[in-house]
Amino acid sequence: MRGLCQLVLVKVESMGLLGSTNPFDMSDTDRFHEECGVFGVFGSEEASILTALGLHALQHRGQEAAGIVTYDGSAFHAHRALGHVGENFGADSDQMRRLRGHVAIGHNRYSTSGNVNPYMEIQPFSSELAFGGFALAHNGNLTNATRLRASLIETGSLFQSSSDTEVIVHLVARSHQESVTDRLIDALKQIEGAYSLVCVANDMLIGVRDPYGVRPLILGQRDDTWLLASESCALDIVGATPVRELAPGEMVIIDKNGLQSLSPFSAMPSRFCIFEYIYFSRPDSVVEGRGVYHARKSIGGELARESGIEADLVIPVPDSGVPAALGYAETSGIPFDLGIIRNHYVGRTFIQPNQKDRTDSVKLKHNANPAAVNGKRIILVDDSIVRGTTSRKIVSMMRKAGAAEVHMRIASPPTTHPCFYGVDTPSQDQLIAAQMSVAEIAREIGADSLSFISVDGLYQAIADARRHPDAPQFCDACFTGEYPIQLAAGLSANKVSHGSGR
Ligand code: AMP
Repeated sequence: MRGLCQLVLVKVESMGLLGSTNPFDMSDTDRFHEECGVFGVFGSEEASILTALGLHALQHRGQEAAGIVTYDGSAFHAHRALGHVGENFGADSDQMRRLRGHVAIGHNRYSTSGNVNPYMEIQPFSSELAFGGFALAHNGNLTNATRLRASLIETGSLFQSSSDTEVIVHLVARSHQESVTDRLIDALKQIEGAYSLVCVANDMLIGVRDPYGVRPLILGQRDDTWLLASESCALDIVGATPVRELAPGEMVIIDKNGLQSLSPFSAMPSRFCIFEYIYFSRPDSVVEGRGVYHARKSIGGELARESGIEADLVIPVPDSGVPAALGYAETSGIPFDLGIIRNHYVGRTFIQPNQKDRTDSVKLKHNANPAAVNGKRIILVDDSIVRGTTSRKIVSMMRKAGAAEVHMRIASPPTTHPCFYGVDTPSQDQLIAAQMSVAEIAREIGADSLSFISVDGLYQAIADARRHPDAPQFCDACFTGEYPIQLAAGLSANKVSHGSGR
């Protein structure tokens, strides 16, 4: 196929709206590729429709933008747009008709970084390389991208975006290896960090997970069609059967001859992100062989055992606190009730580019249900406290609704360190638990009492064993500061500002 592929880019609308910002300026902040969802299909003439559906199921992983790239045997087709999948990839739309082909990959993206042209950041990235067209979508975050980017620019690479992912494309383009898979392996051996990738090249769909397996990537099948997805909920929506998760460091190559699996990297201890269980994955997904819903309920049960208190009701902070609150109520025997009603027409609170927008979104998102809480001693259960914005507002809302006592219980340990592997957390100076003790946070958010689950309790709930080198291991750096993958010089907990990340 060398040289035969023709790259057809369907330009995103509204390119004319782009400001005069400089997408090449990396000086103001480190920028990261965060909280994304990826999906891939090989072997269906409906590849683009399956991908749109898969991305729709993965919308919770990124709401800022979405893109799909397809390959029809001779040409690539792409559509990328800001906004939700449903708004931009409607079944009968012209865009979907143009996305022809039996291979497709797609990507949901987290929010825009401050002053960068957002359209240039939308994945999948696609380019015409020496061997033909190449398209790539990434969930995760590379920790040595800044250094690699600088040296690539120094030696002549022209970057189109500020994304760490684009580094991979340039490394593939420059590799001296013969085959596209060897070029990709060559590129990935130079990068550090977390990645789950889906790629299209030479009539192949390729999926890869980093050697620590930090981010999820699952393989599925529907008749003769192969699928790759960040989470199993995206396979469910298209009627595909989950086959298995890719192993840490595994690369699968799918073409008309079937599936081939390679393990091109040195084996590393698995370090799946524990926060996927706490918050990030959808509760109906099964990730790394564990159902997210049951993991969350079990965390709630453990939390009740660790920090039980007398109260009349257990109230979840919807939606992410619901399974843990159910587990808390079940274990404690305290009735569960809906004291907060969530407006579903507002996106995830956290996924907003700045603090002002976040504060407003919190107000728009939750409202008290006085009929349930008036005169009651309540236990509020949420999945995490990051800056404290949500808890502060919800505790005060419960008091205004007449709650007699408000006890807050958190289904994760205190978040004390930023994530560098693909989950959006602010810099350490904005993490309330890095700045205050638990008692101080309780005062700050106005709660009568506050408890977080312990790290050991979290492991017990998810993996049925305390945190121990012989037990299943996770990446828990946001709670412990123990980063399993080396951080490049300059990536210190305090320096990085994720507040304007993607
Ligand atoms: P905060 O209001 O800053 O304390 O953030 C905590 C709230 O944001 C919780 O209710 C979580 O459900 C949600 N949350 C926590 N971590 C994240 C994240 N990385 N991305 C999006 N939302 C998050």
